[in-house]
Amino acid sequence: MSYLVLARKYRPQNFDELIGQEVLVTTLTNAIANNRLHHAYILTGIRGVGKTTTARIIAKTLNCEKPDGSKACGACENCRLIATSKQQDVIEIDAASRTGVDDIREIIDSIAYAPVSARYKIYIIDEVHMLSNSAFNALLKTLEEPPAHVKFIFATTEIRKVPVTILSRCQRFDLRRLDEKEVATHLKNILVKENFEADEVALRLIAQASEGSMRDSLSLLDQALANNNHQKFLAADLVEKMLGLSNKTQVLELFSALLAGDFTASIKIFSEFYARSSDITQLLQDLLAIIHKTTSVKLLSQYRLDDCSQFQQEKIREIASKISLSALTRMWQMLTKSIPEINFSSSPKMAFEMLMARLCHLVALPDLKQILLVEKRVDENNEELINEILRSFEGSKISTNPAI
Ligand SMILES: [Zn+2]
Repeated sequence: MSYLVLARKYRPQNFDELIGQEVLVTTLTNAIANNRLHHAYILTGIRGVGKTTTARIIAKTLNCEKPDGSKACGACENCRLIATSKQQDVIEIDAASRTGVDDIREIIDSIAYAPVSARYKIYIIDEVHMLSNSAFNALLKTLEEPPAHVKFIFATTEIRKVPVTILSRCQRFDLRRLDEKEVATHLKNILVKENFEADEVALRLIAQASEGSMRDSLSLLDQALANNNHQKFLAADLVEKMLGLSNKTQVLELFSALLAGDFTASIKIFSEFYARSSDITQLLQDLLAIIHKTTSVKLLSQYRLDDCSQFQQEKIREIASKISLSALTRMWQMLTKSIPEINFSSSPKMAFEMLMARLCHLVALPDLKQILLVEKRVDENNEELINEILRSFEGSKISTNPAI
């Protein structure tokens, strides 16, 4: 049997399988139960959010031969045919390729005829905003008073481009973008069914990359499983590489090496990174993100590091417990200032290496307090004087030691 991609295999077939669209499900379920169906619906939302799938579920629910309350049985001939877009009374039109008034005329002419085998004749018009003005006008009259056996389901990614005259005749549903947690949970459930296991972070990364589109997330999951040679366990590293993200663990290692003032180790880690990706701006952003995380953990012990693996979380908490806040803020400043410098450099690689040298040097600098004591400028016990001197340097450009 040929491999069926996950997005198709796990396409929702019924209202109870639709994730995150509670408003639509409740409204339509009630409308069906009370026999108060609207004659036209418009579904809007980002691409991949499930508009066409939802339209088919609605069509199936309306035309099922043996519905269980307001739920399609999924097994009758109508249900099976609609699921594969083969039911002749459910007409799917892609407005992107049929925009003209003649295309709409053809539809309007066919509307008068009763359905062949189903209860309703259902017109699903995808990307409806693409219709021409004359096509919309032709549709308008029919939409006002369609025959009792006709239902319209429109879908669009750009609701603003649909004329108000059309919108006012439809019941509108905004299909919402799913959040990362919902997508990740769904992916996990599917993996269990498929007999795979995965690092939680791997799934969260896929969910992040798919930006709320379940279809995109399933395609990425398919790709990740293939890259992983369909081995049982899917690791976060593999997904990171596949998505072209700089390896977070590697960035964390670089961060530690810089904090330790270890230039040799820093150069080595950077070379490994550079061999895989030349996107130094991304690396800077990742370093900044880690500084931000470390600072947040330092200031708020209960700060959650949900997008990091267990190992990364422990490492960040360990660094946060050792490093001073002033070192973190100074490093942050140095990195943000160097972004334009690196972007405009003829050799971003060289510019980044110089930045690493400066960062390592920053760590090796002695603490101002230590200098004062070593130089015997102040008495060790004169805390008041020491604090006064330190305060006078606050905000100045003189670098006080991060005291790691
Ligand atoms: Zn059925």
